[in-house]
Amino acid sequence: CLDTGWVSSVGKFVDRFEQQLADYTGVKRAVAVVNGTAALHVCLQLAGVEPGDEVLVPTLTFIATANAVSYCGAVPHFVDSEEKTLGIDPAKLDAYLADIAELRPGGCFNKESGRRIKAVLPMHTFGHPVDLDPLLDICERYRLELVEDAAESLGSTYKGRHTGHWGKVSALIFNVKKIMTTGGGGAILTNDEELGELAKHLTTT
Ligand SMILES: *Cc1c(COP(=O)(O)O)cnc(C)c1O
Repeated sequence: CLDTGWVSSVGKFVDRFEQQLADYTGVKRAVAVVNGTAALHVCLQLAGVEPGDEVLVPTLTFIATANAVSYCGAVPHFVDSEEKTLGIDPAKLDAYLADIAELRPGGCFNKESGRRIKAVLPMHTFGHPVDLDPLLDICERYRLELVEDAAESLGSTYKGRHTGHWGKVSALIFNVKKIMTTGGGGAILTNDEELGELAKHLTTT
């Protein structure tokens, strides 16, 4: 890579890496980025998170999950984790939303804060996939976008499909503490070609 002189965000090694990530995880498009926080930040923007929105995040995660929400000008809204997966507890979330959420023409709103709840950002702790089926069901009923923080779950599958496959967009992370490292780095995964293009545009401009 150094010999080619192509050491930045373009070049055949970046393309190859992105293709290998897509092939391995089974998603249509992978876009390599500078770090995991940036991956999460852009994922949330691609999911339509806007300033003033709320994003549901697990209580048990690394701070970057919540920071990425803040970087969108949105508000992290913490929800309970469960013992078995150590991720978001879908049953508790369902009961909680029945209590505090209200569907209006503009989406799902938090009756207490008045803010729109735009997305759910589960994290697959130590590689254990969150129970995604009931979570997807909640997202459909409450019109929320699912964005996966797959920082710790490269190689993990849920019902035969790789984590990062289930969200509208998902983040993989390659810092030194992760399953695979590039020193620092991350990737955005998506099955939506258009969002993939937009991810590439946003992260290279
Ligand atoms: C490591 C990690 C991140 C952040 O990755 P950086 O590359 O350090 O920005 C985000 N979320 C989770 C769950 C992580 O473990």
